[in-house]
Order: sequence, then C-alpha cells, then structure tokens
Amino acid sequence: MELSIGWLYPNLMSTYGDRGNVICLQKRCEWRDIQVVVVPLDRTTEADKIAQVDIIVGGGAQDRQQEIVMRDLKGAKADTLKAKLEEGTPGVFTCGSPQLLGHYYEPALGQRIEGLGLLDLVSKHPGIDAPRCIGNLVFEITAEPLASELRAIWGDTPIVIGFENHGGRTYLNQVPALGKVLQGYGNNGEDGTEGAFFHNAIATYSHGPLLPKNPFIADWLIKVALQNKYQTAISLSKLENSIVYEGRKAMLHKLGMGNLAITV
Ligand code: GLN
Repeated sequence: MELSIGWLYPNLMSTYGDRGNVICLQKRCEWRDIQVVVVPLDRTTEADKIAQVDIIVGGGAQDRQQEIVMRDLKGAKADTLKAKLEEGTPGVFTCGSPQLLGHYYEPALGQRIEGLGLLDLVSKHPGIDAPRCIGNLVFEITAEPLASELRAIWGDTPIVIGFENHGGRTYLNQVPALGKVLQGYGNNGEDGTEGAFFHNAIATYSHGPLLPKNPFIADWLIKVALQNKYQTAISLSKLENSIVYEGRKAMLHKLGMGNLAITV
C-alpha cells in the first residue's frame, strides 16, 4: 500500500516543530511497510497536485507568512483544497492553518486576512500588548465520531498532550470543537474549547510534536486515508509505544495531572 502526504507551504508554515507531524506520519507508515511520498504543496504547485494527495498537513505561521499564503491560496487551488476536505480527506492543521481555513484572521497589526471560509470560525489577535497564549496544552478530544474512533485505536480516553504558542484567539460558530481544555488556553482562553473538527480534518492549536506525543491521532489519520484510498476496512498493525507511554506519564505528572496517566 502507498500514501501521499501533502504538506502545505513547508517553507512558510512550519513553525514550532510542525514538521514533526509529517515525520511521524511517514515513520508510522514505513514501520508498517506502507510506502510514503511527501508532496510539498507550495507556491509552485498546481491545483491538480493537491487533488492527488491522501493526507494533508498544515502547520503554523507568523502573521506575515499567513498573508503570503493567503495571497497564493486562491482560485482553483483553494477550491481543490476545500473540495478535498469536504469529501473527507484526513488532515491535521495547526495554529495558523486553522485560522486560514476559517472565515478570517485579524492580525495584531494590519489588515484582516480573509480565510477560505471552510470552517465556521473566526480568529482575532487582541493587539500587540496582549499576552500570547504559550505553554503546555492538555485537552480531551470530544468531537464525534472521532473521539469514539480514537478510543477504539488507543484503548483509552483520547487525552492530547501538546504545546501551544499563538497570539490569535479563535471563536467557533457552527463547527464542533475538537475537544475541551484540561490545562492551557486552547482556542481563546475563555470558553474551554480547543480546536475544531470538520469531516476528517483536525484543527488544533497544538503544535508539531502533536502526532509523536499522541500517536493514536497519527494512526487514525493513516487508517482513514487508507480506507478512503483502497475502499476497504483497514486494521493497522500495533507498533511499540512504550516510550510514548512513559513520556506521556512523565509529562502529565510534571503538569500536576498524574491522575490522568491511566494506561497511556
Ligand atoms: N499568527 C498566528 C498567531 O499568532 C499563528 C501563530 C502560529 O501559527 N504559531 O495567532
């Protein structure tokens, strides 16, 4: 079997380790003898290349880079990306990427950046004097059917351990939150929501170590992508996760949340 991972604007949108998400998907496929090609989707890419990928990964970006991306992501390219996500192509979109998939992002300085309007949410930076939302982020995935599917893969409550660093605050309208914040800021530090979930697209403020720290999400993305591509039920072989378990337990303990370190 074979999968292609489309990586949105790797040179402009890959802050705070978001590249780790691509590497994690690639390795967890290769360890199962699934061939992988990583396809950069950037300013030189035509829309038909976007149409061919099986998983899409989009990272974070600073405000200036977000503007450059949105100037490029228009017309056929934007339409193709929207159609892919609407049809259920799985993906993980971090920080600046979900801001761009929403209606708009208002930066601290300068003009509002119009988004693709695919996710029913808006994002606003409250100004250069406002503190950034930085730190460890722990949340429980509550969006369905994702939460139940992750529980089946992982055998436990899908608790995500991540790290956030954003100035913008995101407010959801008619799109479900990805999860509820247990520690950290999440979407806006006010309403306890984190991220958004749309068809099979995961939007989150948790940066690039997201998949290595929470490999059940990587496995879900791989499984959905293979099922879409090969139109058959897929059961992935188990991988050795003991180092991940130990790392997760240590992190939860450090954050004073040791009671959550159940089996994972
Ligand atoms: N420009 C956005 C913000 O500060 C996104 C930053 C990021 O992707 N880390 O909110």
